[in-house]
Amino acid sequence: MSWPDLDLPTAQDVHAAAERLRGIAHRTPVLRSSTADAMLGAQVFFKCESLQRGGSFKFRGAYNALAQLSPEQRERGVLTFSAGNHAQAIALAARMLDMPALVVMPHDALSSKMAAARAYGAQVVTYDPLTEDREAISHKLSKERGMVLVPPSDHFDVIAGQGTAALELIDEVPRLDVLFVGVGGGGLLAGSLLATKDALPLCRVYGVEPEVANDGQQSLASGEIVEIALPRSTIADGARATALSPMAFDIIQQSVEGIVTASDPQLMEAMRFFAERMKIVVEPTGALALAGARHSGCDIRGTRVGIIVSGGNVDLARYARFLAD
Ligand SMILES: *Cc1c(COP(=O)(O)O)cnc(C)c1O
Repeated sequence: MSWPDLDLPTAQDVHAAAERLRGIAHRTPVLRSSTADAMLGAQVFFKCESLQRGGSFKFRGAYNALAQLSPEQRERGVLTFSAGNHAQAIALAARMLDMPALVVMPHDALSSKMAAARAYGAQVVTYDPLTEDREAISHKLSKERGMVLVPPSDHFDVIAGQGTAALELIDEVPRLDVLFVGVGGGGLLAGSLLATKDALPLCRVYGVEPEVANDGQQSLASGEIVEIALPRSTIADGARATALSPMAFDIIQQSVEGIVTASDPQLMEAMRFFAERMKIVVEPTGALALAGARHSGCDIRGTRVGIIVSGGNVDLARYARFLAD
């Protein structure tokens, strides 16, 4: 599949996004752990987006997109579809910019994520993911209400905004050799590639998907976007996308080192590590990068490794069960 007319963001757009987010998004901490260093045989730098506003990196892309809308667009408001963190981020960014927001969520989305979107003032419309198409519902609502649709990853400004987390990391940690990034629709990986490859062309960047949702890995192998059936059986609820976004795929295909996978038990092990050793709450999807770095067999011994800890939004009861297992 080729997209000759697609206008793709560049590293310059990531830098412009960073300017827009200055003083608005948190510059999240980069944490170290000597246990992690020993475990991976490398120097490991954790970029903790679990401590970002809204609890994940998604605030970066959402705010970067909404901040560029015209006054008329702001008045009509924004609409999106998301199982959680992007919805929460859009709701928060819209509230900060004084815009109405509507989010289309699967009816079985985590109640904590649905509640968070409502608490930020968004209207929530639910649908059945097995029988209904969220994009069709969103396009229809967007047309009816004149609201701007900002999807979770197939969007120029969203991808540029997501790249600012990696930009901060490589600014703070010079000479990163390898970077691991969790993958759902691919916006975070694409943005991270733009930021990283521009400053550090030799840095190897890997995407990490849940084992049962490895559509991105399949897409890289076949050279075109592969869509898989809706995976219901991974705890990584933020990476259940059934296909990479076309815009993200174009960027990923050009410069990613590879896409590897992590199993649910590996994600739980990583979550326990974060809680016990590093004292941070990380959601299953947020643990993809560490699980991938540890278990995928990528050669990282003796290198300087960046891990994007992408989110920390957990349902407490569910989180407690994962830790106890
Ligand atoms: C959305 C999300 C991802 C994946 O990001 P994409 O841009 O969809 O690839 C990873 N981790 C967390 C915590 C997320 O919310």
